[in-house]
Amino acid sequence: MALIVQKYGGSSVADVECMRRVARRVKKTRDEGNQVVVVVSAMGDTTDDLIDLAKKINPEPNEREMDALMATGEQVSSTVLTLALHQLGVDAISMTGPQAGIYTDAIHAKAKILDLKPKRLLAQLKKNRVVVVAGFQGLNPSEDIATLGRGGSDTTAVALASSIKADRCQILKDVEGVYTANPRVVPDAQKLDEIVYDEMLELASMGAEVLQSRAVEFAKNHGVVLEVLSSFVEKPGTLVREEVKHMEDMVVRGVASDKNQAKVTIRGLEDKPGVAALLFTELARKSINVDMIVQNVSDKGETDITFTVPRGDLSKTLRVAEAMQSELGAKGIRSDETIAKVSLVGVGMRSHSGVAAKMFEALAKQKINIAMIATSEIKISVVIAQADADKAVQVLHKAFDLGKKK
Ligand code: ASP
Ligand code: MG
Repeated sequence: MALIVQKYGGSSVADVECMRRVARRVKKTRDEGNQVVVVVSAMGDTTDDLIDLAKKINPEPNEREMDALMATGEQVSSTVLTLALHQLGVDAISMTGPQAGIYTDAIHAKAKILDLKPKRLLAQLKKNRVVVVAGFQGLNPSEDIATLGRGGSDTTAVALASSIKADRCQILKDVEGVYTANPRVVPDAQKLDEIVYDEMLELASMGAEVLQSRAVEFAKNHGVVLEVLSSFVEKPGTLVREEVKHMEDMVVRGVASDKNQAKVTIRGLEDKPGVAALLFTELARKSINVDMIVQNVSDKGETDITFTVPRGDLSKTLRVAEAMQSELGAKGIRSDETIAKVSLVGVGMRSHSGVAAKMFEALAKQKINIAMIATSEIKISVVIAQADADKAVQVLHKAFDLGKKK
């Protein structure tokens, strides 16, 4: 008998029929002799709808109330799924995040889990019940409900799996696993059998939308092996773990693109110590997540700095930069929203050379212009025009032979 945590995402529990299907899958897992804890997301686009609703009433909603409102989406899912399980004769009980013993820090809307006290949950499991936990939420130090950031139900599942020492943590989705590229863009993209945490983290931060980055980080830090699989068909998915077979031979594991970025250039900055610190400290203080940064060699004591931010933060970023323009001694500020970041990811890059050259050559052959380049040990990213993004992903997928099953 294994203890299994199964997390079902929003599209897997979108309507009554989906709920029934999930209930049957949970029942089956249990009938096979396992103990099951289920974590659910809000039904379909419920979270977005709740945000829209609040903003219609009040464009700047109070964050405590907002968290309390958003958490109801997952509470609806957990109770409805529990009722569906009862209907199938399965002994099940729903729990909110706080009832399941999930304690967070004080940051509303992106709270971090600080502690888990799953006593009640374990007691219910002992009674041989399936426990259905509302994802995405916990109790903060003021005993208010706090939510864990968009996509946060993944983190709920991983954290619970770690705290109850589950044998498996399954993330069930409307895709069959993690792919070498987005199958909607690259028709011969291959499902990966395995991927290491670091690669998954790079892909997740690239907007690959498979798993919440925080969930992967948590899994890595606590050694929770994740299995990403389809909630619609029963097939093995992708295992996410510390080490995989042929780790070093597979130089590039995947190609991802992120069209949700914007580029900002500050021109004619004084080239002296402290200028970059001034700017980026202020951006960090405003919680703007700066990604790639490039500074030019200085010319006549002046330099340019270009960096990327999530598109949603662009206007905030421009406000900060404009307010600091004279303090920075800058001549001008430019921005571009029509960009995309395309990345190659693979731990094998650590021990192989020539990956960048091959990447740039493949892009050059298609006359795709590179605006920025950044590298890490296991990733090479370029910023290009958004209109070229899909083509770039296709070309790179082909150049690195990712369409062939290894
Ligand atoms: N319902 C939340 C969201 O849409 C959390 C989740 O789905 O994991 O972001
Ligand atoms: Mg959702």
